[in-house]
Amino acid sequence: MFNVERGDEVPASLAARRSYKDEDVVKALESAFHKKCYLCETKEPQDINVEHFVAHQNDNDLKYDWNNLYFSCGRCNNIKLHYFNDLLDCCDPEQDVFREIKLLPPRTPGARKLVVERQSEDPRSVQTAQLLEKIYNSEHTVNKAVTGSYLRKKIHTQFVLFNKWLIKYYAEDSLPVEREDAIERIKILMSNQSQYSAFIKWCILDDEDLNELLGPLIN
Ligand SMILES: [Zn+2]
Repeated sequence: MFNVERGDEVPASLAARRSYKDEDVVKALESAFHKKCYLCETKEPQDINVEHFVAHQNDNDLKYDWNNLYFSCGRCNNIKLHYFNDLLDCCDPEQDVFREIKLLPPRTPGARKLVVERQSEDPRSVQTAQLLEKIYNSEHTVNKAVTGSYLRKKIHTQFVLFNKWLIKYYAEDSLPVEREDAIERIKILMSNQSQYSAFIKWCILDDEDLNELLGPLIN
């Protein structure tokens, strides 16, 4: 997961309590969340939902609350439904959602599972890890098993890209300028703007050299 800074400006449709999914709301959420689902981190998902972090259950204060709206893909929203109501909040600057849940990319494109490991006993971390486990590794329906496999393949593709620059950085015959370039590329992949950034950042934290070099930049 990644932390999100949402702007203070409330979209007009929300302020007027007209709609929580009009174009201005979707555009504002898309921009704040870097076009990524706040749960699985897929960028530009084919199906997007404006999700209520706390289920509104027809309470208009919750329904039109700018701070209660999150950018989610249809798949994650469908897995979360009303079952997970005490999750880590990526929009709360006090919560380091990235460090609370360790995520490691699949080793191969067809890997059956990837690592989801909570880092504390905080009830919110426990529940978030349970949800992410379902999102990334679920086999609870045929549909979710197949789409989960697609999702892991996409994460693996990002991991391959990261490895390409890692190899360049570590290669004996790389020029200093190539090494610098490789580091800049890795910085792009670990930034919140890139998809599956949490997986890349955890790989960096787990690597002695990269952690020394890039660890302090991870927020
Ligand atoms: Zn998602």
